[in-house]
Amino acid sequence: MYKQLSDNIRYIKGVGPSRAQIFQKLGIENIEDLFYYFPRRYEDRTNITEIAELKPGELQTVKGKVLGFGQRLSYHKKGLKIFEIIVEDKSARLHCVWFNQPYLRNYLKASKEVLLYGKVDFRGKGFQMQNPEFEIIDDALRAENLNYGRIVPVYSLSEKLSQRVLRKIVKSALDGYLSLAADIIPFDVRRRHNLLNIAEAISNMHFPRDALHQDTAFRRIVFEECFLLQLIFGLRRRILNMTAGIIHKPDEGVLAQFIKGLAFELTDAQKRVIQEIKQDMAGKRPMHRLLQGDVGSGKTVVALYACLIAVSAGYQAAFMAPTEILVEQHYKNITGQLSGLKKNGAQIRTGLLTGSLNTKDKEKICRQIKNGEIDIVIGTHSLIQQQVEFKNLGLAVIDEQHKFGVYQRLNMQSKGVNPDCLIMTATPIPRTLAMTIYSDMDISTLDQMPKGRLAVKTYVFTEEKRQWVYDFIKDNLKNSRQCFMVYPIIDESEKLDLRAAKSMYEDLSKSVFKDYKLGLVHGRLKQKQRDLIMRKFKEGKIDMLVSTVVIEVGIDIPNATVMVIEHAERFGLAQLHQLRGRIGRGGYQSHCILLAESSSEESALRLKAIAEEPDGFKIAERDLEIRGPGEFFGRRQHGIPELRVNVLTDLAAIKIAKDEASGLLDADPALSLRQNQGLVNTLRKRFPEYEKLITA
Ligand code: ADP
Ligand code: MG
Repeated sequence: MYKQLSDNIRYIKGVGPSRAQIFQKLGIENIEDLFYYFPRRYEDRTNITEIAELKPGELQTVKGKVLGFGQRLSYHKKGLKIFEIIVEDKSARLHCVWFNQPYLRNYLKASKEVLLYGKVDFRGKGFQMQNPEFEIIDDALRAENLNYGRIVPVYSLSEKLSQRVLRKIVKSALDGYLSLAADIIPFDVRRRHNLLNIAEAISNMHFPRDALHQDTAFRRIVFEECFLLQLIFGLRRRILNMTAGIIHKPDEGVLAQFIKGLAFELTDAQKRVIQEIKQDMAGKRPMHRLLQGDVGSGKTVVALYACLIAVSAGYQAAFMAPTEILVEQHYKNITGQLSGLKKNGAQIRTGLLTGSLNTKDKEKICRQIKNGEIDIVIGTHSLIQQQVEFKNLGLAVIDEQHKFGVYQRLNMQSKGVNPDCLIMTATPIPRTLAMTIYSDMDISTLDQMPKGRLAVKTYVFTEEKRQWVYDFIKDNLKNSRQCFMVYPIIDESEKLDLRAAKSMYEDLSKSVFKDYKLGLVHGRLKQKQRDLIMRKFKEGKIDMLVSTVVIEVGIDIPNATVMVIEHAERFGLAQLHQLRGRIGRGGYQSHCILLAESSSEESALRLKAIAEEPDGFKIAERDLEIRGPGEFFGRRQHGIPELRVNVLTDLAAIKIAKDEASGLLDADPALSLRQNQGLVNTLRKRFPEYEKLITA
């Protein structure tokens, strides 16, 4: 038997059936998967800081011995179990604590030598490291030469696999198989941009010789990911350009009547974007357009207009949103705005499809969709389920696109014969950046807010103002308004020194706000549960909603006039802006209060910027400048396919990859040349849903 990268991971020494199962949970089945399972970070163990030299607030590695008398388990006042040790090196002693991990006492025993990785902060008695990562140093660790005296990879792991075991397994996989890694990036492209070959890149991603090698390796991997993505986008665009879509011939009378019936006048931006969409929909290529606009810029009415273009031309439209509560809100608004609007003398019919409908209602609505008795159906993910068939879908609208994967979007489109597609996002991104990362779409931007909207007033306060803030909230609640309190974490155990949603909810409902009804939502609640509480808040049955950042974008709660964000310095600017977009949706003046520790000057500046700047696009630009695109987009890559590394750390690479991909496609539009077959195979493997594009 020849060795292959597709060999099961069990071919590696040390991987038996039970470990193979653990690997499977990490998404690793074969050698190639393992090669591309890159470290979460690296630790430079050639460079260990002495305890006396530790700088507060920085991530650093120290090495020391656990002191016998230092090991202790105690209880925090809120019932947290705290395990603490004292570690000593030749320069000083260091206090380390872990929360709710009492079992650590079985590992971190007296006189053990340990490596610790974390941040020190000054608390009460002296310097302390909270919840540091650790590894125990023993002869085995020293012997392997993978864990010590070098730059060491640190992986994301499940509890059942140790760093040390994984390093060893990766090493033997590299030894046995690395020579089989074939380069899919054409040689001339590699040469033009000075890219490492793939074998060296993989090797240096896991066990970098030094920081420079790691960096070069990372650049190569990022490029590869970007290149594949841009090839897919490029193929997709080319295919779309050759595809016959629907030429919508709308009934101008219906459209004019709709505009006349609106309770407001469209902004110039809305008018412009409507024209862009109208032109696309009348054209013979399928529309594939991203509509971006700040929270409250009025995307829904634009989307509804697009739906009416389809409907008045004799087609159906589907409007998909990520949660039931959002879908219900859209359904109510849309149905309201369409009442009295007729095409060919008959009322335009809307329908609602969500997962919580009972079977009978679901069957009924599916039948109506299939028979064409519904013109516009508004629904959740349920819309892309198999049993939903349309009579003649002309337009698919997808709201809050980052909540849906690319494949879900494609599935929605596959419900019709090349329908037009409008994708909406409330996360403003500077235009050139949007064009780079969403290069398979055309982009429309609503860069203007409706007139007469009261901008949310934003303030930055420190802790001393807390009582004043509570009083201010109470005044609002007394006037029957509602309020949000937002926290960066759910539980205190995550970080002891931060206020957390759960405990603050308990505190506040017992003390300051005991006369009011409070609700709690956070990310560990099931979506159903979250929806239920949000609904109660929307209906006014809850006065104050305590939450983490999970509160949905897009939900209208006109009566909510105050939002307090605690530890605001911990949030990104764009995120703060998104959060405050949940208030200020009614006719009342709304207030957003940022409670922040007066930490660094930089964070004070950032908060000042958000207090003064109401425009989401400008804020996004600032945020990008400050944090760079990797942080800005976070791990969730905004609806682009799952990638192996965060490519957004390197926008220049994306640009180059885009040009190279398009050059390659110019030369070989269907990727049929023999030298490109490696690429084709990889694309097939990595993006299974795109198969039809590649073979078309
Ligand atoms: P978003 O872009 O965040 O989805 P919506 O479409 O929900 O915003 O619109 C927010 C609110 O603004 C809705 O109540 C909508 O009816 C209203 N609206 C939309 N366009 C205008 C306009 N041109 N003038 C006044 N109000 C508008
Ligand atoms: Mg919206």
